[in-house]
Amino acid sequence: MHSIRQVVEGRYLMNDNVLELQNVRKTFAVNKDLLGRPTRHVTAVDGVSLSLRPGRTLGLVGESGSGKSTLGRLALRLDAPTDGHVLFDGAETSSLRGAALRALRRKMQVVFQDPYSSFDPMATVGSSVAEPLRTHGLIPRSLHQERVGELLATVGLQPTHAHRYPQELSGGQLQRVAIARALACGPKLLVLDEPVSALDVSTQADVINLLTDLQRDRGVAYLFIAHDLAVVRHVSHNIAVMYLGQVVEYGPAEEVYTRPRHPYTQALLSAIPMADPVVQRARERIELKGEIPSPANPPDGCRFHTRCAHVMDICRTANPEAYAAATDVTVRCHLHTHGPQLAGRSVIDLPMPRPA
Ligand code: SF4
Repeated sequence: MHSIRQVVEGRYLMNDNVLELQNVRKTFAVNKDLLGRPTRHVTAVDGVSLSLRPGRTLGLVGESGSGKSTLGRLALRLDAPTDGHVLFDGAETSSLRGAALRALRRKMQVVFQDPYSSFDPMATVGSSVAEPLRTHGLIPRSLHQERVGELLATVGLQPTHAHRYPQELSGGQLQRVAIARALACGPKLLVLDEPVSALDVSTQADVINLLTDLQRDRGVAYLFIAHDLAVVRHVSHNIAVMYLGQVVEYGPAEEVYTRPRHPYTQALLSAIPMADPVVQRARERIELKGEIPSPANPPDGCRFHTRCAHVMDICRTANPEAYAAATDVTVRCHLHTHGPQLAGRSVIDLPMPRPA
């Protein structure tokens, strides 16, 4: 059921996004006075609007501290936004309670980075995969074993793996089990939080191919969180690059990858090794200066200005608005409206300034 407010505001109506974030902000209290009242806040996510359609993948990329994992928790309704709206299937998630909230939990699942910490070491794989079936009571218990066998087969494992314990499996096998468990209740959305970062390169490729096949067969949407643009390129339809709580660049994966409009995206891309050694030698590595600043004390103006090779005077005082650089492409950078006037072209068209 939709609330009267949602009906009046039209927020349940048929946009066909499975997930929609509307101008979402999330702050956390980091200091409290003697009475427990917050005296200082950190803004982890600041004015983010994104959407995700069924059967599509949105890659969310940025360094640690960029706010991407907080955004994943907001999408999963593990946290509530301080401002803005999170909609799942058109319904605002923060207003859901009781049975409606349990139904929501069934439709959205998460796979974490470290599969070994995601499982009870005392429980068999079969018991862990059946756990969502027990929680949501979707099928009779007598059918759980058969369903677990089907789920394990779906992710390329044998039904006999159900009798093993987590520590008896490799990292790649256990991440497959995590995916099987996440699929148990037929979700519409999987939040994949660095799902391959703990795996070796060849296992990463296997798991990514598995995720791609599952999406093709089941139409499930993925919010794929990663610190590495190379990983998200091959799974994502669209990519959002985050820096200090804001999306600084958004667009179709190929567009972001081949024509980056933001200097931060360009720097992330320059760190990716290229298969072709000639291209690799010709390509300039852009060193990011220093660490990402603390979200508790973000720089004035453009949040990236303390590390940007193209910084201009305006960047130190004014935070750029999102600029529509092309169809379905936005970027937050003054280069497109001031100074060299890139006006939507790629930042790689600009020569790199040389240190004086
Ligand atoms: Fe760099 Fe200025 Fe663009 Fe920020 S607004 S990314 S500091 S050029």
